Amino acid sequence: MFKKVLIANRGEIALRILRACKELGIPTVAVHSTADESAMHVRLADESVCIGPPASKDSYLNIHEILAACEITGADAIHPGYGFLSENAKFADILKEHDITFIGPSADHIRVMGDKIEAKNTAKRLGIPVVPGSDGAITEDTEAKRVAAEIGYPVIIKAASGGGGRGMKVALNEASISEALHTARSEAGAAFGDDAVYIEKYLSTPRHIEVQVMGDGKGGGIHLGERDCSLQRRHQKVLEEATSPALDEAGRQKIGDICAKAIQGLGYSGAGTIEFLWENGEFYFIEMNTRLQVEHPITEMITRIDLVTEQLRVASGAGMSVKQEDVIITGHAIECRINAEHPKTFVPSPGTISYYHPPGGLGVRVDSGVYQGYKIPPYYDSLIGKLIVHARTREECLARLRRALDEFVVDGIETTLPLFRDLVTNPDIIAGTYDIHWLEKYLASKAD
Ligand code: ADP
Repeated sequence: MFKKVLIANRGEIALRILRACKELGIPTVAVHSTADESAMHVRLADESVCIGPPASKDSYLNIHEILAACEITGADAIHPGYGFLSENAKFADILKEHDITFIGPSADHIRVMGDKIEAKNTAKRLGIPVVPGSDGAITEDTEAKRVAAEIGYPVIIKAASGGGGRGMKVALNEASISEALHTARSEAGAAFGDDAVYIEKYLSTPRHIEVQVMGDGKGGGIHLGERDCSLQRRHQKVLEEATSPALDEAGRQKIGDICAKAIQGLGYSGAGTIEFLWENGEFYFIEMNTRLQVEHPITEMITRIDLVTEQLRVASGAGMSVKQEDVIITGHAIECRINAEHPKTFVPSPGTISYYHPPGGLGVRVDSGVYQGYKIPPYYDSLIGKLIVHARTREECLARLRRALDEFVVDGIETTLPLFRDLVTNPDIIAGTYDIHWLEKYLASKAD
């Protein structure tokens, strides 16, 4: 195992990683910006190093400072969490050169999956069903029109280097495709420094279903069931559940097996998520995330497997502690992403938490780094915590979630808690009959 792990992240995920390290008896190093001096991950780590001013580019993305922190503390591995440097292949390369283990997949796998066109072609080769569309980047109007006519309108134009739900444009018909192509290209160029875009069929009412996978880097690989992340706002996940209300056991097995085989074929190492859109019983690959995801706890709840521990084991060469037959799914789990945002306008609401009372009781987990008196800095993502609830059935899980949301008090700032309190009493949510557009429509109807 590692001598010491440096956690190159902040907030709830830094704490999450720290907890796994502590249980494994691995000393931890927290890094932080000057804005995060009083953060919980800094308080709970064995050592901490300030790596720069508030702006992420000068601190949490500052590879030079992070390397220096490793050198000062003698950390021999880095866990990147999600976001920041977690899917930066160059960072993984640099760590290798410095003999520091990157707790994640190989730089090559990050690179392949980071380019969505290459990712899609790789997925296809590995036997994963993909959304019909162009084989490569599209630059010319004529080509865009030809592909779109072939797959049928509407189509969506997506950035090859896209992420975070940005850089996507829908074209409903041939009249709008040229404009969509040009806007998508210029937006992609500005946002990602790469104007390569591709076209795929726009699925009108899909669900977002993703499969958690884990590989040992030696050709071994398993899946840990799926998560349904169809409740989205601006292509960003808001609430996730596992298992998916739309899948039955046979469907789960089928897609799980396809994903596990793909991971084996790839020789993938560590945790990953294969994301699909699902419509009329069919799965369509959209991308693979080569890191731990925000919503990983719901998988942990239904499998009772600690995904961060498994990441640490694989990266250190100890191998996975579980085989496919050890992955037994029980019950249902739901996660709500609690953001420091106004629940209706979604305007960020940084500031001091004057009173904080998290819920508890059987089957309730709160992953958060905040506490009473904590001042949320304005510089970072507004996610301040995740409420995760597990129960034997989906119905029990929703009842427990309602109860837990009622108990949760965060005063002094606005949070999205009221939104979730509304959602969990909505008939469509209770029935589980929602697609990726449901939440936007719901929010629009509430705004009237
Ligand atoms: P990102 O990396 O930016 O998150 P994804 O490819 O994962 O991009 O897509 C994010 C979201 O965009 C999906 O969950 C879905 O809501 C929407 N989306 C992407 N591709 C399609 C498509 N072909 N048809 C309909 N919606 C899509």
